[in-house]
Formats: sequence, structure tokens, C-alpha cells
Amino acid sequence: MKVHGFFKTETVKPRLNGTHLNLNNDYNGHDIIGDNHIATSLETPIRVDAFLLSDEQKILIIEDKFRDIMNVLGLDLTDDSLNGTPHRVAKMFVKEIFSGLNPENKPKISVFENKFKYGEMLVEKNINLNSTCEHHFLPIVGKAHVAYVSSGQVVGLSKINRIVDYFARRPQVQERLTVQIANELKRILKTEDVAVIIDAKHLCVSSRGIQDEGSSTITAEYGGIFKVQQRKEEFLKYLSLNV
Ligand SMILES: [Zn+2]
Repeated sequence: MKVHGFFKTETVKPRLNGTHLNLNNDYNGHDIIGDNHIATSLETPIRVDAFLLSDEQKILIIEDKFRDIMNVLGLDLTDDSLNGTPHRVAKMFVKEIFSGLNPENKPKISVFENKFKYGEMLVEKNINLNSTCEHHFLPIVGKAHVAYVSSGQVVGLSKINRIVDYFARRPQVQERLTVQIANELKRILKTEDVAVIIDAKHLCVSSRGIQDEGSSTITAEYGGIFKVQQRKEEFLKYLSLNV
């Protein structure tokens, strides 16, 4: 199968809020964006031709290119321990940690009528979150906390975990991930009354660069009634977080 050379190489200039950043050179621009963890858009920046290749074709191409990276680093690919790594990494990218790029993998969520007429907030806290920083391709690991007040519809609790997981399985910035989860819940539940907090460690902060082991990053999105201080505080009290 001829899959090499499918993509044209193009220079992508760093952009902020839709405007090209006026930087002296692209290399500096990428460094500035990476270390400041700037998100340029609420939508994951994805090309229109992102899914013309099948998963299997993508795995073959990535495997080939990752073998090149390992070779450039001087690793001996004939060693039994390294031999299978390019394929493992390629499969992991496409089928696992970046599977949330493909809308086909979006969880199918059914909503149910709120039969118990439960009118208070529902909080699901400490949802496991494993994502990947899009600036360094290193893990973001933490917890998501989600709350909503039903407008007449409810979802199964495990579906909230699945939504968090789907958006986490992309190259991400934490702010965008938080808003994407909130927006999807608002859409499914047909209400603005949704809140999402993410508390996560970024390995690009702890294992390289500044090497701060102790810090974590908290992001929050409050919609509808959660913008009211009293409801926000109630949510935070359930989480016992001091945000
Ligand atoms: Zn990073």
C-alpha cells in the first residue's frame, strides 16, 4: 500500500485568536506558545482531510515515522526490546490516547426523562482524566468534577465519564478540554446549568522545563445557574475544594 507522501508539508504559522502572531521566526513562536500553554481555539484544530486515511493506514505511517525518530536518536531498532516500539506507539496514538479526535468514537449518549423530578444539582466528582498536552505530547493526569441541574432530562452516570474520556483522548490544552466537556453536556442535557472543574498535573511542567512536581492546574467552566455565587459555592463544597 502506498501511503507515504500523502500529506503536503506546509508551514503553519502560530495563531492567537485567529490572528497570525507576528514573530521573528516560527521556531521562537512555537516555543513561546508551548511554554505558555496558549490555546488558540475552543475547537480542536483539525484539518478537513483528517479522516481520509483509515486507522490502519495512519498506524502504518506513524509507525514508519516513529521508527525514523528512534533511528535519529541513535537507538538500535534491532534490539528485541525496541523492535516493536514504533508499532506500539503508532497503535497507541491512533486507537487509544488520540482516539477522541475521530467523531466516530464519540460515545452515543441516551437521555432519560427525570422521573424522580430531582431538582437539585447532581455532582459526579473524581472522574479519572488522562489526556495529552498538545504542546509537548506528554500526559495530563488528574480528575474532572462535573455537576448539572436537570431541565427534564438525565443521563446515566457512567456516560459522564465517557464524555470526559472522549474529549481527553486528544492532544489538548486543559482550558479547551474543560469547555468542550461542558458544551457537550449542555448540548445533550439541553440546559446551560452545567459546571465542570478539572484539576490535573501536567508532565510537561513536572518532568521537564520548570520541573515543578507539586503544582497542579485547575480550570473551571460555570454555565447557567452555576454562575450564581451560592450555587457555585454549593458545588465547590461538595468537592471540598477551595477554588
Ligand atoms: Zn505542555
